[in-house]
Amino acid sequence: MNNRIRTSIAALVVSSVLGAAQEIAPGRAPIAAPSGQPGLQYRYYEANVDTTLDLSLAEPVRNGTIETFSFPEGIRRDYFGLEFWGAIEVPVDGSYTFYTRSDDGSRLYIGERCVVLNDYPHGPTEASGTIVLEAGRHPILVTYFETYVGEMLAVSWEGPEIRKAAVPPGVLTQHDRLTVTAPSALTTTRLSWPGREFTLAVQVDTRDAVDLVDFHATLPGVLREHYPKIVDIVGVEGAALPDKIRFSFRPGIKVPAYAGRGIVMSADWFRKRPGDLGCAIHELAHIVQRYPNFQGKPGWLVEGIADYVRHKVGLDDGWRIPQKYRESFRYTSGYGVTAAFLVFVETHHDRDLVATMNRALKAKSYTPELWQTCTGKPLDELWQDFATRYGK
Ligand SMILES: [Zn+2]
Repeated sequence: MNNRIRTSIAALVVSSVLGAAQEIAPGRAPIAAPSGQPGLQYRYYEANVDTTLDLSLAEPVRNGTIETFSFPEGIRRDYFGLEFWGAIEVPVDGSYTFYTRSDDGSRLYIGERCVVLNDYPHGPTEASGTIVLEAGRHPILVTYFETYVGEMLAVSWEGPEIRKAAVPPGVLTQHDRLTVTAPSALTTTRLSWPGREFTLAVQVDTRDAVDLVDFHATLPGVLREHYPKIVDIVGVEGAALPDKIRFSFRPGIKVPAYAGRGIVMSADWFRKRPGDLGCAIHELAHIVQRYPNFQGKPGWLVEGIADYVRHKVGLDDGWRIPQKYRESFRYTSGYGVTAAFLVFVETHHDRDLVATMNRALKAKSYTPELWQTCTGKPLDELWQDFATRYGK
């Protein structure tokens, strides 16, 4: 270990004290590396993850050494991850830009700092970051994962005397791994309710939005109060409920939230509107709905029911379904408009409408005729009634 690297480890320890949430990743003993030998060390995982941060939670299949940031021989093509680490020799003091281009996600760390954040599932995408470095060796770590189709990873740099190019093997040497994670930014709260058969482990992940620490308490609190109501509205007897759910707060998400593997929450949105937790209720409704795909499955009704749930749960977050009919509304508008329509039809025509629709969607037996079966009126006629009377 040379002095520069020793210095950056000292700096890391200081920042972990100051940052409180930051610690050197525990658990796995570092692999002894003869410092200064050419190449990098790598760890190969076979895992289905949607962020490189979860690789450290998986068991590696293999460790080895490799010349540079490239796929080792004999790895599979889908659902895998790699971590490469060592030291990079910087020729002169100055500002250096690092790039990763990857499918799916990747990150590049120099010392404890994440310089390139190019994580989460995506097709080939390049991201970059710039850091001022003194001449000499600096610890480097690149993490990468692939879900399915089109795996690739390219790592390049650009600096005072370097045109943008792939990082050449000649500047890479082996070095003990230096990893920084923020363990307290991933918490699990197990919820159960007296007299209820189901439980729910609520995981809150703010590893990429450490300032949103309050959500580790507020989200489980909201779910403790409201989750049973969601189950009552869109749960179906005999259908499995999730036993755990992860809410991941991430930068660069273009919608407030979406449900996928778990629920991804836009860090930017919730920084501005921390009280907008009805979004989480809507997405959680989708997780419970989990309707199978079938021909003629109406997306607008799926979204309408999710907002109907949000309405019924009655969070005091300032969100409301529309209170009056407007010309631009269609029953196929989905979301709040369809939710208002559902509330109206339940009030005036069939109080079990949503429960019936929900069961039919779950059983793949929904057809537009179901509206007539429930209410005695076809869908178009119900909509006319809504247009004439709603909010009057
Ligand atoms: Zn939705």
